[in-house]
Amino acid sequence: MNQALPVDFLESIPLPIDEKAALIKSIGEAPPVSIRLNRKKADLIHALTAVPWHTDGYYLPERPRFTSDPAFHAGAYYPQEASSMFLSFVIHQLGLEKEPITALDLCAAPGGKSTLLRSALNESSLLLANEVVGSRVNLLEENLTKWGVPGFSITQSDPFNFGKAAEMFDLVVVDAPCSGEGLFRKDPAAQGEWSLQNVNMCASRQQKILNDVWPSLKAGGILIYSTCTFNTLENEENVAWLLAQQVAESVVLSSLPEGVESVTYRGAESYRFFPHKLRGEGFFCSVFRKGGKPRTTKTERPFFKLLEGIFTHKNLAAIANEKGDVFAVRPEHIPTIGKLEKLLNMRHHGLPVGKWTRETFKASHGYSMLCDTEYNMPSLDVNIEQALAYLKREDVQDIQAVSGTHLIKFEGFTLGLGRYDGHRLLSLYPMDWRIRNANSAAYSPIVKAI
Ligand code: SAM
Repeated sequence: MNQALPVDFLESIPLPIDEKAALIKSIGEAPPVSIRLNRKKADLIHALTAVPWHTDGYYLPERPRFTSDPAFHAGAYYPQEASSMFLSFVIHQLGLEKEPITALDLCAAPGGKSTLLRSALNESSLLLANEVVGSRVNLLEENLTKWGVPGFSITQSDPFNFGKAAEMFDLVVVDAPCSGEGLFRKDPAAQGEWSLQNVNMCASRQQKILNDVWPSLKAGGILIYSTCTFNTLENEENVAWLLAQQVAESVVLSSLPEGVESVTYRGAESYRFFPHKLRGEGFFCSVFRKGGKPRTTKTERPFFKLLEGIFTHKNLAAIANEKGDVFAVRPEHIPTIGKLEKLLNMRHHGLPVGKWTRETFKASHGYSMLCDTEYNMPSLDVNIEQALAYLKREDVQDIQAVSGTHLIKFEGFTLGLGRYDGHRLLSLYPMDWRIRNANSAAYSPIVKAI
């Protein structure tokens, strides 16, 4: 047994004694490394073992230096722990990708589930990615922007405020803040922070979050609750509490991938991932359908300035807010975004693509990240040293080009924008996202551009 693990934690593991030993042994082992491909930008170079429950998920033989791979910064893939990709299995099993829906990812930063949802849902669906912690919203923006698939808005609101957004969402994902027992081997520091007191605090915070967000789910809509912890207080007890508290039914999934355990507790069916049983970290998930009759909700006629001729993309509109920030949105989402803006703290109406000042559009980084878009801007190919210099926001040497703004490309991946001033290429990569420790010797490509 792993002596470093807290005794109360060992006692709280919801497994028979022999299985407990196997789980504890697995916590001492190296975690598997996995990525989720962005199919709109990339494909694999070499065959890799697939994650059984997500068609875009793959295990890597070892952990590469992601920072030294320009494709990572281009949004070609997202390093994501495999168990959490199970969300895609749930979406497809319930057929939630078939129709356009309005979805909420309530606890969204850094954006693993949001980028997954944005790819898994119907292209015409609207995803609202919300993160209450201000310092984490930037990371969410960065990851969704690099992913480059429009059809999302980002808010920074406390779950309590979603009470005002009554019956607005067909799908609500609550990937709750938790005690993180399932990540002990990925993040050994989490072991030191663990206490029974913290588990209790997390469990009551999760109940409050579920209670707060419930009114925003439409009758007939789906709520997916997940944690990355093992204990029953934050998991089975909480979902049983939700079922007793609300008019809802527990949704039973079938044909579970090998190693995924289903458990029924006081009428609530849940799915558990244990690292000794599959290649992934600890994860828990439960699915509910809200009862009652759907109500029709009023939409607003929003005021956004619609800009013409910004994209060569048939399904995208550019809207400017009153500050002149320009966002790429799908035109059919504009009334819903207008309504959400009135109810919540809207940080980004859509994918941020630039500024509108004095009747002129100036593109920003997000513009170059957009999938399925043709640009009327010249592009400039760079090698690996130049790509890393660009991503460090250094001037790029040994370049000849016409003066002006260019799309900077490495091996077919767009990295962002740069300006050639006649002598050198200035990197316009976002200052806050610039990389520091990367070198071309550590570059080992995983994916190729499509
Ligand atoms: N869904 C994310 C992903 O897949 O990348 C991970 C989410 S993490 C498990 C939980 C998130 O909940 C964190 O970003 C945290 O800042 C946020 N959070 C913390 N306290 C919260 C609260 N009281 N209500 C809602 N979210 C909270």
